[in-house]
Amino acid sequence: MNPHRYLEPSPARADGGHHVGRLPGTIELRELRDLGHPESPTRAIRAKCIDCSGGSDTEARKCVAVGCPLWPFRMGSNPFRPVSDAQLASVARARAVKAAVLSLQLLSGQGENEKCGEPGTDPHADTGGAEPSGLEGKS
Ligand code: SF4
Repeated sequence: MNPHRYLEPSPARADGGHHVGRLPGTIELRELRDLGHPESPTRAIRAKCIDCSGGSDTEARKCVAVGCPLWPFRMGSNPFRPVSDAQLASVARARAVKAAVLSLQLLSGQGENEKCGEPGTDPHADTGGAEPSGLEGKS
């Protein structure tokens, strides 16, 4: 990949002909996908937060920088987006299953490695346009 193909001479005279990033909307989707970037804003923010946290999803979960503009979105979801009843029901089922699994793990002594922010338990999660987990094929 040649990164220079995504640059162009600045249209601003004040930039003195220096190269700047091309507008993403002028680049073929195929090329953007080849760069490997997430295809939704919330997923991009999640990736950025994990990068900011030294590659640790757990540290991104625990971020205390509440003044950061990305903070409400750091778990890969948009808490400001309305949530449907179906999504809430799906999340309730996912939480019930998770609680049951955790109970079984605790009973068997395997519950010490619990991760923060398990998928499927956030009603605002970005599903990439698909139904939330557990709702596939249901109306
Ligand atoms: S919310 Fe801001 S400070 Fe916290 S991990 Fe994300 S980018 Fe970094």
